[in-house]
Amino acid sequence: MRHICVLGSTGSIGVNTLQVVRSHPDLFTVKALTAHSNIEVLAKQCIEFKPELAVVGSASAAEALQDLLKAAHIKTDVQYGPQALAIASTLASVDTVMAAIVGAAGLVPTMEAAKLGKRILLANKESLVMAGDIFMAAIAQSGAELLPIDSEHNAIYQCLPDANTSNGGARGQYGSLGVKEILLTASGGPFRNYSVDQLASVTPDQACAHPNWVMGRKISVDSATMMNKGLEVIEAHYLFGLPAEQIKVLIHPQSVIHSMVRYLDGSVIAQLGQPDMKTPIAYGLGWPDRIDGGVEELDFLKLSQLHFEEVDNEKFPSLKLAYQALTMGGLMPTVLNAANEVAVEAFLQQKIKFTQIADVVAKTLDQFSVSPAHDLDVILAADQESRVQAQGVIKGYLS
Ligand code: NAD
Ligand code: MG
Repeated sequence: MRHICVLGSTGSIGVNTLQVVRSHPDLFTVKALTAHSNIEVLAKQCIEFKPELAVVGSASAAEALQDLLKAAHIKTDVQYGPQALAIASTLASVDTVMAAIVGAAGLVPTMEAAKLGKRILLANKESLVMAGDIFMAAIAQSGAELLPIDSEHNAIYQCLPDANTSNGGARGQYGSLGVKEILLTASGGPFRNYSVDQLASVTPDQACAHPNWVMGRKISVDSATMMNKGLEVIEAHYLFGLPAEQIKVLIHPQSVIHSMVRYLDGSVIAQLGQPDMKTPIAYGLGWPDRIDGGVEELDFLKLSQLHFEEVDNEKFPSLKLAYQALTMGGLMPTVLNAANEVAVEAFLQQKIKFTQIADVVAKTLDQFSVSPAHDLDVILAADQESRVQAQGVIKGYLS
């Protein structure tokens, strides 16, 4: 039996996680759930799974949740605020944490659970982009099992020599195992065939209508700018320990091949499946065993073709910015991530144009020089400083 905390249980990944958990009551029990503000959904989840602890974003949300739970005679303890997130992820009764909060807010609770050696199912790629070195060091020191949930990284992990063995999860050390390169596939998002002119006038709703995946709004915009793939290049670097030159991106609009590993002997190993996050989630929950993910089977006779193309870096400059930040190292990925979060939020609020997202990130990066990301305090300070700078760039457009 695994005892689970779902950080971000009301989001797209959180809901899919609980769907897999629900179908295996003999294997999983839910000990803690967290959500920012969606109290109705969280209350329903608490009534169904009866966790020990539920965490929300504010005192008023906590009060509203308590009222709903009291009316349903549910004894779940309710807490609120960023510190309570780490209480949920480090509960003594929890052995497995699904890290599915979106953005930088996911870092501290995930890191605290990693330090205690809990199994980490990592969907929250932003935490690894912000703090990859110290996060991987915490994993190594505690011996925590780290299983990538991002579909590409889950695919890559499955294609590496020690997947499906109890070797301890992703360790950031695959360079010596005959791996030549990693091929990250990208759908290209909803605007793959748009012109630069067309991109300038797209709306948030258009950006959030992904052709293959149903996801939260932030990652949907990231997919549309291709910054999502940039964050994933950085994520792959930390998870698998390969330099930027050995991590390549390939457009594959069907999202059937979720990523591949090319070996020195000429072999390329790919993982295929439906574009359904329940597959990587079930892999992480069941690992090293395989469990039913409740996913529709891939029917090869219905696949018309598998198509591949190069990324257009002129149209999608975000990917290049992410490679630059990774190559520069130090706090630059932290700066990239923070500026991107601010810019995406401003786009979702219709304060800036779609094409200005990458510009905000580029101009914010320009304002920083490389310095080491050696501890959490330095990283969190750089995150805050970058947000202020990015807001300044946005103010510049408006004036
Ligand atoms: P989402 O927006 O649907 O859900 C986000 C969750 O985080 C919600 O439960 C929300 O309540 C919570 N949250 C938001 N802000 C918070 C804050 N400040 N403090 C505490 N909790 C907060 O997002 P999603 O699509 O489920 O994505 C979650 C994470 O998984 C992201 O990091 C994303 O990049 C990653 N991911 C998602 C997918 C996908 O298919 N959705 C695929 C790969 C990776
Ligand atoms: Mg992905």
